[in-house]
Amino acid sequence: MKNTHEFEDNKEFREAIENLAEWLKTADKILIGAGAGLSAAAGLSYLDEELFKQFQPEMAAWGYRYPYELFQHEPWPQAREWAYNVRHIHFVRYVFPPAELYKKLRKLVEDKDFFVITSNCDRQFMRTGFPMERVFEAQGSYDRLRCTGRCTRETWEIKPYLDKLLPLIDSETFMIADESAIPYCPYCGAPLATAFRAFEGYKEERQRYVDFVESTVGKKLCILELGVGFNTPVVIRWPFERLAYYHNHAHLFRVNKEYKEWPGHGGYPMVPRELKGKATEMPYDAAAVIESLYQRKYFTDKDE
Ligand SMILES: [Zn+2]
Repeated sequence: MKNTHEFEDNKEFREAIENLAEWLKTADKILIGAGAGLSAAAGLSYLDEELFKQFQPEMAAWGYRYPYELFQHEPWPQAREWAYNVRHIHFVRYVFPPAELYKKLRKLVEDKDFFVITSNCDRQFMRTGFPMERVFEAQGSYDRLRCTGRCTRETWEIKPYLDKLLPLIDSETFMIADESAIPYCPYCGAPLATAFRAFEGYKEERQRYVDFVESTVGKKLCILELGVGFNTPVVIRWPFERLAYYHNHAHLFRVNKEYKEWPGHGGYPMVPRELKGKATEMPYDAAAVIESLYQRKYFTDKDE
């Protein structure tokens, strides 16, 4: 696994890992927060130029470099919007495989009382066998569509539209060739878009997360944050700091690596000074941390 050995030679890395391993082992409860940095560490990065060339060849040919550049692009006609989104979602959700890194993370915690909150929409937790009653996908997922006119809370499965629209992408114009195939709301006629957050069952999922956090009162709580930056800090990062601060028996491990190849992205492992003694900054790749923990756990299990 990339970078693991590089970090294993680092004394601070080893000490932080030992400390984290001890907390994971002895904690009554484990709360995991996962952001884009975890999927990036698993090989699915929205900053990866090579990957982008593979699944968005037209956009790459036009000079775009990676998905992040297109998060807020100029308005496109629906026919292009759909060509782009269909390619993106099809690749992230169906072509990219269930990641080994996520599976290892699951094996690290599956015999413990744990819960995951994630801002990732790629469904890797579901695809790698996490019990979904222990996962809160706080930003929703790519799987469903909603009405952009907000006339209804009903949502629609995206898969049939992906299957229908993929073969209709014209690679000359990078548009959906047959516009009548583009989905619009059956009630008000507004365009449909990915149903981030606004999906059936959101409230119930959120409640399970809240219940879990409440159940940690008076318990030893290990908080493990993996690749959570400042895109949406109100979802995971700031609540975790607050929880670590007020909880009387918790420790926050903040894993966040600086991507030197993409300046300005990631690399905010720092914790507020008020959390001194209650939090550990880990400026490492999430893959190196999980791999390192996984190897330790594996050897421990074998020895016993
Ligand atoms: Zn509508």
